[in-house]
Amino acid sequence: MSEYDAIILGGGAAGLMCAAIAGQRGRRVLLIEQADRVGKKILISGGGRCNFTNIHTAPDRYLSANPHFAKSALSRYTAADFLDLVERHGIAWHEKTLGQLFCDGSAKQIVAMLLEECTKGGVEIATGISPQVEHADGRYRVGQASAPSLVIATGGPSIPKMGATGFAYDLARRFGLKVVEPRPALVPLTLPGGEALFRDLSGVATEVVARAGKASFREAALFTHRGLSGPAILQISSYWRHGEPIAIDFLPDLPAGWLVEAKRARPRATLRKALSDHLPDRLAEALAERLALGELGATKGPKLTEAERTLAHWRFHPNGTEGFAKAEVTVGGISTAELSSQTMEARKVPGLYAIGEAVDVTGWLGGYNFQWAWASGIAAGQVL
Ligand SMILES: Cc1cc2nc3c(=O)[nH]c(=O)nc-3n(C[C@H](O)[C@H](O)[C@H](O)COP(=O)(O)OP(=O)(O)OC[C@H]3O[C@@H](n4cnc5c(N)ncnc54)[C@H](O)[C@@H]3O)c2cc1C
Repeated sequence: MSEYDAIILGGGAAGLMCAAIAGQRGRRVLLIEQADRVGKKILISGGGRCNFTNIHTAPDRYLSANPHFAKSALSRYTAADFLDLVERHGIAWHEKTLGQLFCDGSAKQIVAMLLEECTKGGVEIATGISPQVEHADGRYRVGQASAPSLVIATGGPSIPKMGATGFAYDLARRFGLKVVEPRPALVPLTLPGGEALFRDLSGVATEVVARAGKASFREAALFTHRGLSGPAILQISSYWRHGEPIAIDFLPDLPAGWLVEAKRARPRATLRKALSDHLPDRLAEALAERLALGELGATKGPKLTEAERTLAHWRFHPNGTEGFAKAEVTVGGISTAELSSQTMEARKVPGLYAIGEAVDVTGWLGGYNFQWAWASGIAAGQVL
């Protein structure tokens, strides 16, 4: 039996960061990864360039049954702290939109950086192992390794073809921890047959405001052959619940009364023409067809006002999402009520920790999820 101070299950963003920090504090750390290599999701993230953090990171950009839980870890390890690490490793980066920071080169640099940090901490890494966990006499045993601390860093079930599973939840339940029902998030939405008109628009994108409940996002929406995607839709999908509609404002920049004004300026123009001044042609055509209005000059003012309102609150009734197969992350997970927000340790199971996506904390699109993985990994890594 090999003795360690901590065994970390999962060599993703959170597990690698946690291992590096604990190792650098002099702890003997074993990191166990079931895949043949660590950091696979990091490698495919951000289109291969890894959107590794967001400079606007704040707790209100995370979903959780307890919206306060993430505050402590996020405030103790910020986007600026991670950026500092990236710069110390000489990795070139750039800001894209909305505070999203990406590598100029490749996500491989982030994995290499984390591995270098693990090496500095003398972390032992074992890959290609499906761990069986036992717990007795205050020690956790995984194969031939034993430690007083075990960290669950095995992520969520999104992208099962990469080997993602609900392992974290099963293990947590075995230790009596509650799990908030996981559902796919940052995921395209599917539309039923009745809204098939829009499926013909597959490939058309436009900037919208998407709303579900109280949440709203202004970004691009993209029509697909199955429904809706694009950043605005991925963002709103995390807030969407089955059976609820989502509302789209197709013309967020136009002032109230713009269509009546358009009638005054160009009475011979059709609605389709008026819309195509602001929207892609195919979308203008589909919306005008649905609204069934012709020449503006021949349409009464109140009808135009009503059309304007419809265009600003276009209701779609998604019948589902594209599921975990296409979801960037998982909403839900190990209940934060079970964990210390300072250390990520389970309140009723000493020595058991959970970090990263396995926990019921889910960020917006745009680098927020990695920032949570780093921050929660460090919170645990500092106390192991
Ligand atoms: C296509 C895609 C692109 C993304 N792009 C971004 C982005 O640009 N920016 C951003 O912030 N977020 C992005 N995300 C989300 C981000 O990847 C996750 O939030 C983040 O990886 C979570 O880190 P984690 O360490 O908790 O889990 P993971 O990174 O998923 O790591 C978990 C690890 O545990 C391993 N594992 C699973 N089960 C076991 C087991 N039983 N035993 C041992 N090991 C196990 C897995 O193989 C994996 O290596 C993206 C996600 C996807 C799917």
